[in-house]
Amino acid sequence: MAEEGKTVRKKIQATDRMNKIMADYFYGLNEAATSKTQKVAWCTSVGPAELLRAMGFAVHFPENHAAMLGATRLSTDLIPAANAIGYSPDICSYLTADIGAYLNGTTPLAKAYPGIESVPRPDVLIYNTNQCRDVQDWFAWYAKELGVPVIGITSPKNVNEVTTAHIDDVARQMADLVPTLEEISGARLDMERLRETVALSRECTELWKRVLETATAAPAPLTFFDGTIHMGPAVVLRGTREAIDYYKVLLAELEQRIAAGVGAVEEERHRIYWDGMPVWGRLRQHSELFSGLRANVIASTYCSSWIFPSFDENDPLRSMAKAYLELFIVRSDAYKETYIQEMLQKFRIDGIIYHDAKTCPYNSNSRYGMPQRLEAATGIPSLVISGDLNDLRCVSDEQTKTNVEAFIEQLEEGK
Ligand code: SF4
Repeated sequence: MAEEGKTVRKKIQATDRMNKIMADYFYGLNEAATSKTQKVAWCTSVGPAELLRAMGFAVHFPENHAAMLGATRLSTDLIPAANAIGYSPDICSYLTADIGAYLNGTTPLAKAYPGIESVPRPDVLIYNTNQCRDVQDWFAWYAKELGVPVIGITSPKNVNEVTTAHIDDVARQMADLVPTLEEISGARLDMERLRETVALSRECTELWKRVLETATAAPAPLTFFDGTIHMGPAVVLRGTREAIDYYKVLLAELEQRIAAGVGAVEEERHRIYWDGMPVWGRLRQHSELFSGLRANVIASTYCSSWIFPSFDENDPLRSMAKAYLELFIVRSDAYKETYIQEMLQKFRIDGIIYHDAKTCPYNSNSRYGMPQRLEAATGIPSLVISGDLNDLRCVSDEQTKTNVEAFIEQLEEGK
C-alpha cells in the first residue's frame, strides 16, 4: 500500500514577489474606483481584457474575487444569501459566493489589503459566454443592482474546429463593444495601444506556458496547487509588463530546481493530471493528501486555460477572437480528448483525477463518458472526485481521501 508520509510541497521563493504585484494591482484598482481617476471595467476571466486595458480601463475580474472567497473559505457561508434572492444552490458557486459577498457587504480584499473596503465599483461590465451562461447572468444582476451598462460577447460552444466563420462572428462582436467603451472611457480606441497590449499578453502567455511545462521534468519542480496560485498574474495582469517580469523570475527559479534535480514533492513517484476546477477551500489539504502519497499533480486543464497561443499584435481583434474561441472549455469532447491525450504524453502522466464540480458542469468533463473513453484509448487509469469549486457543502473530505488513497494504491500496484 502507498504509505502516507510527511512529504510536503516545497515553497516557491518567488511567491513573495507575486504577492507584491497582486497587492499593487488591487490597490491600483481601489485607487481608480475611489478617486475616480480611471474608469473601472469588470471582465469575465476569459473576456476581452486586452481591449479594456488598451482603452485605459482598470480591470477587475469577479471570478478572481470569487476564487478568493473560496480560498479563504468564506464562500460557503455567503452562498445562501444569493440563494435567498433566487439563485439556485445548483448554479455556479462563483456567482452565488460573489453576489452573496456583495449582499453581506464583505470581501476578502479588506482583510488582505488594509485600506480597501470593497471591490471596485464598476463603470461597465463586460462578459464573454465562451465559458458559460452563468457569467452573463452574474453580470446582468450587478448591472441592474448598480445601474451600470453590461455588454458582451455571445460565443459558440462545443466547437470542434475553430473556423473563419466563428472568428468573424466573435471579432465582429468585439468590435461592436468599442463604441460603448469609447463613450464610457471618453477616449477613442488607439489601435497602436491595442497592438502593444496584445503583444504583452502574448509574451505573458508564452512565459506562463513555459512555467507550466517545467513540470514535464521528473521530478516536476511545481504542482497544480502552486499553479492555481501563481496563475494570478496571467489572469488579472495579462497585457501588462508586471506579469511578464514576474513570470521571468518564477521561470528562472523553476529552471534552477530542474538543474538541481529538485522536485516540488520529495520522492515524486506518481505523476497525476487534474481535470476540472480546483476545490479552492481545500488547496492545502489536497496538496498534502497527494504529496503525502508521493504523488504530484503536475498538470491540469485549468491552469493551462490561460495559454493563448493565437494572440498576434499584427491582427489584434481577430487574434483575440481566435484565442478566446480556442479555449478548452469552448471545445467539443472530441477536441478535448485529443488535447488531454497530448498532455498525458507530454507530462508522462500515470493517472488522471477528474473533479466533478457540482455547480460547474462546464468545467466538469466526467459526465459524458470521457474518463472511460480516455482510459480505453490510453490505458491510463482515472478517478472521479465529486466536489465543488466554492461550495464546501458539496465536498466530502473523508470520501475524497479514501478514494485518492485507493487510487494511488492502484497506481502503485501497476508500477
Ligand atoms: S465556468 Fe463554471 S466556475 Fe466559471 S463562471 Fe462558469 S459556471 Fe462558474
